[in-house]
Amino acid sequence: TNDTENQYDVIIVGSGAGAMTAAIFAADQGNSVLVVEKSDKYGGTSAISGGGIWIPNNDEFKALGGTDSYESALTYIKAASAGSVDESRIRAYLDNAPKMIRELQANSRVKYAVAEKYPDYYQHLDGSLPAGRSMDPELFDTTGLGDEIEHQQPASGNTLLMGKMAWTARQAHKAVAKERGWMLMIIGLMLRYKLDFKQRKKGRRDRRAGLGGSLVASLRHSLLDRNIPLWRSTEFTDFVMTGDKVTGIKVIRDGQTLTLNARHGVIMGSGGFEQNQQLREKYLPQPTEQAWSATPKDGNTGAGLEAGQKIGAATDLLDWCWWAPTLKVPKEQSARGLFAERAFPGAIVVDGLGKRFFNEAAPYLEFGDAMYRNHQKAGNSIPSWVVFDSHFRQEYAMGPLMPGKIMPDSRAPKAWRDSVYWKADTLDELAQLINVDAAGLAQTVTTMNGYAKTGVDEDFQRGGNVFDRYYGDASVKPNPCLAPIEKGPFYAMKIHPGDIGTKGGLLTNDFGQVVRPSGDPIAGLYAIGNCSSSVMGTSYPGAGATLGPAMTFGYIAANHITVNR
Ligand code: FAD
Repeated sequence: TNDTENQYDVIIVGSGAGAMTAAIFAADQGNSVLVVEKSDKYGGTSAISGGGIWIPNNDEFKALGGTDSYESALTYIKAASAGSVDESRIRAYLDNAPKMIRELQANSRVKYAVAEKYPDYYQHLDGSLPAGRSMDPELFDTTGLGDEIEHQQPASGNTLLMGKMAWTARQAHKAVAKERGWMLMIIGLMLRYKLDFKQRKKGRRDRRAGLGGSLVASLRHSLLDRNIPLWRSTEFTDFVMTGDKVTGIKVIRDGQTLTLNARHGVIMGSGGFEQNQQLREKYLPQPTEQAWSATPKDGNTGAGLEAGQKIGAATDLLDWCWWAPTLKVPKEQSARGLFAERAFPGAIVVDGLGKRFFNEAAPYLEFGDAMYRNHQKAGNSIPSWVVFDSHFRQEYAMGPLMPGKIMPDSRAPKAWRDSVYWKADTLDELAQLINVDAAGLAQTVTTMNGYAKTGVDEDFQRGGNVFDRYYGDASVKPNPCLAPIEKGPFYAMKIHPGDIGTKGGLLTNDFGQVVRPSGDPIAGLYAIGNCSSSVMGTSYPGAGATLGPAMTFGYIAANHITVNR
């Protein structure tokens, strides 16, 4: 390769949703663009995610007759983030997020709908909405991608119906909530999958992609439409500086170190550091394990963070993750997040004393944080245990265990016994099996069974708001998130305070520029997604509050580069 071949206007590191969104806008504004990705698969965590984006004031919600406003969203994020992030960055987000998704849908293959029932996560805060801000990708036909789809980070089993069929978040919710017509919908999805003979001859993979798989495939296809090069197996190692300005990057490709020059800007979308045990131990609350993370193995090791620190970048929120309780399933590369199941009626989470310590139906960030806080107090909630009875087992999914109606214990993989789930005839025996205080557990279950009758959880108000109830079972009365635990055999599953990515990173300004501790930008350098410190501060205001900002600041960075070139 000669020098001119290694010259681009804009170089983007990483191929998650934010990175590819930035690539599309930068290219459409007349910049030559290169995307480099360390993994031999493109798409990162974005590709295995739910693909939801949280966009206050989006056009689709208004078209459905919904009401939202800039001011209410600002009030809400400010209350949620409680001073952990500058208001001007929140404003930059609110100004640009609706424009980003409007322009992206108009000019690319990305297609979203409003998840009409998905509530904001903090219903008790001013400015929250019962629905309308979370958007869900439509299913995307990957045929046009040809063989390239084989290089996409494969969707994790828990985002697919029965581990293989694509569906939208709206469809998944309909099934979980057992809304009218849900059975027919499932049969329809299965038939469509089975009758796709041409694709079934090729293998298991659904021709259509859903959730994060849809988002990333539609972005990848849009990059191909524009002939934007995406180099896989190309690892960013460092910045190239000209004086104080970032003018390129160093990468390792095919075992060789290359220098790539960026005339107008480098956008770091290289993810967080959750796959780096050393950095976890350095920055995150303890104990911490890489294995608890639900993100693709070995991808996000904090290369962007460390290179930024070396050239004097400021950082923030390094002790935070997008927490989620996770569990490990044998043979699966990454841990699985428990996003919904904690809200299903009849499952509780207890610590080593057999005590509940938080509202199980609370958002996953708060639940993971609560596991740490309780552990610091009582020393007993890492790991914690999800406990349920055989009625629950029959009716509901928990982690990889599908409802007993579909997957009885006899049909669950043998290796899962005593590694994914523990089982005993009585609660007492179960407590001994998992080394949890038996008297404490018995007391907790008695108390909970009382709450199930009255419908009021007097300790943690579980099921007390529309967010909790989103994953409740509407047919269970009086509280869709509460049911007794009484019928043996009894089950337990072990959970850790895992993550779906780290939340802190390089500090950026309203334009996505990386700044120094003085607040001055480092010329030529931008950071988005989990490589940057979150615009949501320590909060997670709604479904899609990580990808929405990653894509929006990708859009903002591309615009800023173009205007200043
Ligand atoms: P990634 O998407 O992980 O992309 C980073 C890329 O950079 C990776 O491909 C990585 O290999 C590459 N990279 C790393 N180092 C280098 C290097 N040195 N050189 C070159 N490339 C490098 N968030 C939402 O908002 N909505 C959801 O619905 C949602 N659902 C989720 C469901 C699950 C199961 C999980 C695990 C996460 C979910 N999340 C969701 C979180 C969300 O997926 C992540 O926060 C988001 O994808 C982070 O985007 P990113 O671009 O920063 O990182």
